[in-house]
Amino acid sequence: MGEAEKNLKKQIERASLLDARLGAVCIEDPALGGLIRELCRQVRRTDSLMLSSGVAAACAGCAKTRGSCCFREMGESYGFLQLFVNRLLGAELPPKSDFSGSCFFVGEKGCRLKVRHSFCLNYFCPDLTTTLGDETLLDIQRQVGKQLLAGWELERALSRFFTSHSIPEHL
Ligand code: SF4
Repeated sequence: MGEAEKNLKKQIERASLLDARLGAVCIEDPALGGLIRELCRQVRRTDSLMLSSGVAAACAGCAKTRGSCCFREMGESYGFLQLFVNRLLGAELPPKSDFSGSCFFVGEKGCRLKVRHSFCLNYFCPDLTTTLGDETLLDIQRQVGKQLLAGWELERALSRFFTSHSIPEHL
């Protein structure tokens, strides 16, 4: 196992530990709870747009035939905070990768994460860009922007929450 994968596993462990100890507290906190619900709403809107525009089907089709463009380094760039946010929204973090050589989080049914990086949400291959057309792409990008903003606000509030509750680095 390479250093980057070892580091990712540490980030996953830390996110899971945080979730076990503080997940419920964060969800019940009035301010954090509101931000979590808002992010959840935005993720649902993005996912539904990806479905109705045909993006989800096109990516699934590619994954079955020529392989997905979810590359290994992308998964390895996720940190504990983004993974903790995923746990707060109910995503299961896999103990091991299903496809060596691809992103750690890609599974049989696609991405296992609920809250993805900006790159994962904003990347459209040339084929997809042509199929979707400018107007649909713009609609998706507008919605993705709203989701990313909601995610950023929640991560910022969580960082403040950890500092104010003196959550130690190793947790
Ligand atoms: S969409 Fe999901 S599976 Fe694909 S690169 Fe991003 S995190 Fe990995």
